[in-house]
Amino acid sequence: MFDALADRLESAWKKLRGQDKISEANIKEALREVRRALLEADANLQVVKEFVSEVEKKALGAEVIAGVRPDQQFIKIVHDELVEVMGEANVPLAHADTAPTIVLMAGLQGTGKTTASAKLALHLRKLERSCMLVATDVYRPAAIDQLLALGQQINIPVFEMGSDADPVEIARQGVERARAEGVDTVIIDTAGRLQIDQDMMAELARIKETVQPNETLLVVDAMTGQEAATLTRTFHDQIGITGAILTKMDGDSRGGAALSVRQISGQPIKFIGVGEKVEALQPFYPDRMASRILG
Ligand code: GDP
Repeated sequence: MFDALADRLESAWKKLRGQDKISEANIKEALREVRRALLEADANLQVVKEFVSEVEKKALGAEVIAGVRPDQQFIKIVHDELVEVMGEANVPLAHADTAPTIVLMAGLQGTGKTTASAKLALHLRKLERSCMLVATDVYRPAAIDQLLALGQQINIPVFEMGSDADPVEIARQGVERARAEGVDTVIIDTAGRLQIDQDMMAELARIKETVQPNETLLVVDAMTGQEAATLTRTFHDQIGITGAILTKMDGDSRGGAALSVRQISGQPIKFIGVGEKVEALQPFYPDRMASRILG
């Protein structure tokens, strides 16, 4: 992943080598390469523009540091800016003062939402936080079965009311059950559609309004690239998200999605999905991601 981006930057760095300071003339080409690379990595155009202009400001204003090659200084500026855009440090999952912590999972179908719900439950249990999963996707009967199977696999209870019940009611009763049983965190898996539609958004809004979650996590498929920007904007505007999980980071995704989510919503990516297995979830670290982007 990010190999193409790293190669691009590599050629940009070469242009800076041999120059004894960062000047307007010699960073122009490097900035062009950064821009091109990020666009090729499927980052959103607006996000890239803002990013590059910020890097330019910082590069031009940078004091020349004795003994540090300008290309290295430029790399550091790009790296630091990437880290800043993606959120500085890992932001852990909220933990409510009074149990249960309520986590609402949102996103399109096929992004890995159901898998991510189970992954998150397993991750939290390893931190000694007991969990319950709630199946509200009544439109795809297979979705309830899928969550039940995952729950069984990791030994986490799944609350469901079949596919005839109202999703809002399932969510409400699921939270009630979790509260009654003293469960630490309840994770609500919701229905996704292949495309954003108003019914889906309205239902999600009603679930959110009813259960008042501590976290509303948008599950974003890293492979969707540019689309991640529109998706983030729509969900954040209409529902309000508190963070995101970027899935399928084990694939050959170009990673541009990582840049868009935080820049557009102001909310952090909290975890990345790195495989189909239920253990394949890792906390998101902006500095690691930036280093990967720079190769
Ligand atoms: P949902 O429709 O959003 O609930 O998506 P699912 O959880 O059913 O996942 C859709 C497909 O993506 C399944 O085949 C999952 O195994 C796969 N998947 C989910 N997360 C990841 C991931 O991080 N990496 C890879 N490679 N596959 C994933």
